[in-house]
Amino acid sequence: SNQLMAGKRGLIMGLANDKSIAWGIAKACADAGAELAFSYMGDAFKKRVVPLAEKLGVETLIDCDVSDPASIDAAFAEIEAKWGKIDFIVHAIGFSDKNELRGRYVDTSKDNFLMTMDISVYSFTAVMQRAEKLMGEGSSALTLTYYGAEQVMPHYNVMGVAKAALEASVKYLAEDLGKDGIRVNAISAGPIKTLAASGIGDFRYILKWNELNSPLRRNVTIDDVGNSALYLLSDLGGGVTGENLHVDAGYHVVGMKAVDAPDI
Ligand code: NAD
Repeated sequence: SNQLMAGKRGLIMGLANDKSIAWGIAKACADAGAELAFSYMGDAFKKRVVPLAEKLGVETLIDCDVSDPASIDAAFAEIEAKWGKIDFIVHAIGFSDKNELRGRYVDTSKDNFLMTMDISVYSFTAVMQRAEKLMGEGSSALTLTYYGAEQVMPHYNVMGVAKAALEASVKYLAEDLGKDGIRVNAISAGPIKTLAASGIGDFRYILKWNELNSPLRRNVTIDDVGNSALYLLSDLGGGVTGENLHVDAGYHVVGMKAVDAPDI
């Protein structure tokens, strides 16, 4: 345990269960002394989120569907009423129709393209619109992205296009909000078996490939992501904004494997 986040209050959005990347980040922040609020989507998730909140002593649980602007307004009104200001935000939310997370990108439907962009990209900007006035000098926002934004990955399809837009929006938000001392960054996490990931075609193969081909020869965990998030969310990352930190066991630096590459 450390006190890197002592005196800081933050909202963690996107907790579904104890496999969620949001849970890894929540644990690291709580362990570092942060006071937390959680948002989750709908009653179906509430029963899983309540016991997790209890484990970390989190009292503020907010139902927030980011596809509904009124729901985001209500969430931030609740945070403002409770805390007045907020020091950090974690956006760990993404969604697409799983029927389009397999096969060819070229077959993406317009409806799913727009829905994926709304929930996985625009929602971060919409959240920062509300959060801006509650944040100030020394505050930090973080979203989660994936290497499929930068290079073509099998089955990632429209989600890769959405993550590319999300990564660009991190840079624009960093510039807009930097004047007020608000930092905005992303973590590009390696593949992790979560609920969202289970919608991606051949995900087990992707996990195995990353394990065998990354410099560290392993996959990352939600605790790895949580610990790196601590750097970006705390004052340790005070000089860092607009950044995309790869927490992927180094996979993103590999161009081609040597001849001893394993057959998979
Ligand atoms: P997860 O399923 O645990 O979390 C996804 C969350 O998004 C869920 O809590 C879900 O309720 C929420 N969500 C979906 N639609 C929503 C809506 N309309 N309103 C509010 N919340 C909504 O999976 P995860 O893997 O922890 O995903 C968190 C983030 O990490 C996502 O952005 C994902 O793309 C990203 N990411 C995941 C991986 C991976 O391999 N798991 C790798 C890199 C990046």
